[in-house]
Amino acid sequence: MLVDKLQRNPAFGNVFAVGVCVATPPYEQTPVPVGVPKTGYMIESMVSAVAENIADLMAGSVPHREPTWNAVCLADFGDSGVALVALPQIPPRNLNWAGQGYWVHLAKVTLENYFLRKVRRGSGEPGCERIIMKARGINWLRPKPPAPPPTQAAE
Ligand SMILES: Cc1cc2nc3c(=O)[nH]c(=O)nc-3n(C[C@H](O)[C@H](O)[C@H](O)COP(=O)(O)OP(=O)(O)OC[C@H]3O[C@@H](n4cnc5c(N)ncnc54)[C@H](O)[C@@H]3O)c2cc1C
Repeated sequence: MLVDKLQRNPAFGNVFAVGVCVATPPYEQTPVPVGVPKTGYMIESMVSAVAENIADLMAGSVPHREPTWNAVCLADFGDSGVALVALPQIPPRNLNWAGQGYWVHLAKVTLENYFLRKVRRGSGEPGCERIIMKARGINWLRPKPPAPPPTQAAE
């Protein structure tokens, strides 16, 4: 599904899309034609923006939150793994980091337990997580755009 920078369909402003169903243009030509990958944290950023934008619509205001499409991934290979941080996921990036080793497997197991606990408790982003991620410059949402200048009152 086509979406604009607020995750809205360009033709229908009250229809939003998140995740793998979002149509992203190919980043580069590859021998096997593949789409741009979507990852968990990137999708969480889309969902956060959509939740805020739908709340804006319901409150009668103009939707304004943009997702970062940042990526933080732990790919577990069992006896090893690869971790990556790509801010944002689709280049050009402000930050590009990758690491590998057995520690990624341990980190993934820890994350799985932490994530399931969050789901059970109905907590999307506990305060400590927000503080740690923010300190590292990793956010779901782009900073709020400045408020539009006040319109001049009619004389
Ligand atoms: C093998 C693999 C490993 C991955 N590893 C990582 C990783 O380490 N880190 C990371 O960040 N990302 C990883 N990803 C990517 C990540 O899992 C996906 O990007 C993410 O799950 C997509 O979320 P989604 O909600 O868009 O789609 P999905 O998770 O695919 O959810 C779509 C849901 O819609 C349901 N559905 C489909 N059609 C219908 C229908 N007609 N009616 C009702 N329901 C329907 C499906 O059953 C499914 O439950 C991995 C993906 C794969 C395949």
